[in-house]
Amino acid sequence: MILEAQSLPTVLYVVAAVLFILSLGGLANQETARRGNIYGIVGMVLAIGATFLLGDFELWNGTAMTLIYGSVAIGGAIGAVLAARVAMTAMPELVAILHSFVGLAAVFVGWSSYLHPHGTETLSRAAQTVHLIEIWIGVFIGAITFTGSVVAWAKLNGKVSGKPLLLPNRHMINLAAVVGSLILVFPFIEMSHGAGGFSYFGFLLLLAMSGVAFGLGWHLVMAIGGADMPVVVSLLNSYSGWAAAAAGFMLSNDLLIVTGALVGSSGAILSYIMCNAMNRSIWNVVFGGFGTDGGGEPAQVGEAKSADDCNHTTAEEVAKAAKNAKSIVIVPGYGMAVARAQHLVKEFSGQMRKKGITVRYAIHPVAGRLPGHMNVLLAEAGVPYDTVLEMEEINDDLPETDLVLVIGANDIVNPGAETDPSSPIYGMPVLQVWKSTKVVVFKRSMRMGYAGVANELFFNENTDMLFGDAKDTVQAILNALSGKAAA
Ligand code: NDP
Repeated sequence: MILEAQSLPTVLYVVAAVLFILSLGGLANQETARRGNIYGIVGMVLAIGATFLLGDFELWNGTAMTLIYGSVAIGGAIGAVLAARVAMTAMPELVAILHSFVGLAAVFVGWSSYLHPHGTETLSRAAQTVHLIEIWIGVFIGAITFTGSVVAWAKLNGKVSGKPLLLPNRHMINLAAVVGSLILVFPFIEMSHGAGGFSYFGFLLLLAMSGVAFGLGWHLVMAIGGADMPVVVSLLNSYSGWAAAAAGFMLSNDLLIVTGALVGSSGAILSYIMCNAMNRSIWNVVFGGFGTDGGGEPAQVGEAKSADDCNHTTAEEVAKAAKNAKSIVIVPGYGMAVARAQHLVKEFSGQMRKKGITVRYAIHPVAGRLPGHMNVLLAEAGVPYDTVLEMEEINDDLPETDLVLVIGANDIVNPGAETDPSSPIYGMPVLQVWKSTKVVVFKRSMRMGYAGVANELFFNENTDMLFGDAKDTVQAILNALSGKAAA
């Protein structure tokens, strides 16, 4: 059967949708992630190509073509440069700002669908009502996604404080914004019908609702504490998917609907899994205020102890302890990413394995600054996948472990999460490193981790502190092992 030219874009859309599903499946596992990425890239190229084929070329004059191809070229070039240059530690910020673009695009699509209602004039009243509701919902979700993502980006890169902003009656403010936006849709629909699909007053209502939704997105994320940013980024990922799906309905583009729904649902599932990992409810995260005692300041736990109260160690002593150990567990955290120490850490674990010592990596679900952050770094360094274990796979083995090396991690190994009900991270499952025979913590100072919570682990009898940049200290251990320094 010969494929008709008109059905080619539809076939390409179906292939692209299947590739996106395969891509998500591939990205769920470290070993298949690279393949998943390739499926995604091919799917996106097909999707863009098919969309060009679907274009109404009669409407595309020279200026429109120049604008479209020019935007694709400029946007593609900026994206490629940004992605190539971004440091792994800045990846969550990049993801957050990219979500904001999806949100803003949905707002623009909504506004332009209303301003230029091509073809909708001939629809029945009921179908027109559905189209107007699609515009309203798409703009609402898109506007929340836009400002929420910009605030998440600013919080993650430190341009805005990570402390939650707790305005008086903040829940009432949010509720009023949602209810107000819902109520405004009725006059919007009535006015638009009365004027044959478009009225200037209706557009003013749409702009007014956009303003309210922009404010709501800003306020919702400002009220969320820094420690919840992983879930927020994942939630905004979900919102951006729903915004894209809404844009798909407005444009009657099936692939955009499917892709948006895939992103929306996978983001929602990831947020749910992350909340479980932190022992929090999704509502508790969304309504904000985590990390405060209600007064707006982050809660501090633990006594005011200093580095003088800790056991100190040296690279040489750690090298000696490692050589004498039968089993070693390495817990990487955000600091390993900052120091870019993963290659040296891999070299260390390889050397230990050659001596017959069991070395495994323990990964906490929110270690680092984005889901899977540590898995990506370890994969980049070439660490064998079968030695990288999730928290629930390794926690039971920690009491039988001779040596745990906590490299640039803090919150995810904080015993206060289990023992101190007043701690803001109380209830979050953590890696129980203190149950092992010996723990060495690699960090530069006594500063707290992301959640701004003191850590009693540093003062335990079986914990030694190895101060310094993780790359330097791991290098010093390798030097000691090779006899370059006194071992
Ligand atoms: P933390 O932020 O709790 O701790 C990182 C530690 O690394 C700090 O104690 C810091 O101490 C140390 N450090 C920083 N730079 C270096 C360096 N160059 N060399 C050695 N040490 C260094 O990180 P964790 O991974 O333990 O926990 C992640 C936290 O981030 C959690 O609270 C989580 O909720 C949050 N989060 C997680 C996201 C995710 O999706 N994974 C996203 C956003 C936030 P010092 O400054 O003294 O060196």
